[in-house]
Amino acid sequence: MKPKQKITPIIGLEVHIELKSESKMFCSCEAEHFGVEPNTHTCPVCLALPGALPYANKKAIEATIIVGLTLNCDVTGVSKFDRKNYFYPDLPKGYQISQYDMPLAKNGKCKIEKGKWIRIRRVHLEEDTGKLIHTEGASLIDYNRAGVPLMEIVSEPDFESADEVKSYLQKLQQLVRSLGLADADMEKGQMRCEPNVNLKIEEEGNIFFTPIAEIKNVNSFRFVSAAINHEINRQLLHFNQTRIEKGAGNKETRGWDEKNKVTFPQRAKEESSDYRYFPEPDIPPLEWSNAQIDSLKNQISELPDAKKERFMKTYTINEESAKILTENQMVRVYFEEAVEIGSTWGIEPREVANMIINKRLDMTKLTPLEFIEEINKAKQKTDMSEGELIKIIDDVLGRNISAVEDYKKGKTNVLDFLVGQVARETKGKSDSNQTRKLLLEKLQ
Ligand code: ZN
Ligand code: MN
Repeated sequence: MKPKQKITPIIGLEVHIELKSESKMFCSCEAEHFGVEPNTHTCPVCLALPGALPYANKKAIEATIIVGLTLNCDVTGVSKFDRKNYFYPDLPKGYQISQYDMPLAKNGKCKIEKGKWIRIRRVHLEEDTGKLIHTEGASLIDYNRAGVPLMEIVSEPDFESADEVKSYLQKLQQLVRSLGLADADMEKGQMRCEPNVNLKIEEEGNIFFTPIAEIKNVNSFRFVSAAINHEINRQLLHFNQTRIEKGAGNKETRGWDEKNKVTFPQRAKEESSDYRYFPEPDIPPLEWSNAQIDSLKNQISELPDAKKERFMKTYTINEESAKILTENQMVRVYFEEAVEIGSTWGIEPREVANMIINKRLDMTKLTPLEFIEEINKAKQKTDMSEGELIKIIDDVLGRNISAVEDYKKGKTNVLDFLVGQVARETKGKSDSNQTRKLLLEKLQ
């Protein structure tokens, strides 16, 4: 008989995020590589030509420290770069400049949905690799991405489900976007994540752990969930068939095959000793004073959670509306501008919020001022009674006797002229269809 098992997934996450930067991490080449002609943003440093020396991008270092601070990390102000050695053609130097034992930030935590805290092991800075493009018969390499500043955020294995991972990734994405430090678009490869997954299996008083698998190439929120859920099921099945437990040498790297919705073995997972880390001799160690760190702290703008709460309080809107309005910087700025203009017209923030959220007006086609004018017009229209309108129509007809005569003679196009006259009198508050109908009744 099959023994009863209690399964708890243990999931940790490595997240790589490309930082928004004018230049690359260790040279002055343009960092933009999306949709750029291959190998046009390169130089002796990022192509690793002999004798070329790297120099570190200060803004990228500051950005990483800021992210570390917002993730409640210790930022000690002492750090250094290291060489991570491995051979692969997307890495022109034969090593990646990364950080080993002295990351810019460590020991933080991040709150995800339902108030759960995820411990952050470290936040460090490194350089991105080139892109391999596999065509029929050849593999091509584009080094435009080689050397682009790449931030890595490593969590402790505190996640127990794919949903928790998803919530965390959304949190990180929102955070770096609101800080203006990265776009973190997963579809564009600006944010990539590698979950490592294993299971704790409790069975008749015994506890077993399955071997850890690290999953590569998961590049969308949907794939992350699918890959983790598949891996959980696969490991349980595998354990029950083989009873192989976690142990030295059986960590593995797996890929995600989106077409068949399965993970597949790639190669044995390297231990850090395989990378022969050593300090980067061409870049001096980094030191930061407390005053410098404080000044970075002061640069941190309002964070997403605080912003959401402020919106709910200040504008008396519900949490869902606040979430939608603060998620995207463009929408948020637009809303706040429109609310400010609207306040002088007696338009409530809630009305502005509704118009934006329900897409009753197209904010991409209107300035905030025009947006408020449209809301105002719509309000005025419904405010004008039919009685008031009829009074104005009578007035207009009385002043345009010759036009009325013309109409009676069959010149029906004067109707448009009369509708326009009424609109002018009402300063645009009248509804033209209603005006036309009432005019026709009078003229008959
Ligand atoms: Zn370069
Ligand atoms: Mn990395």
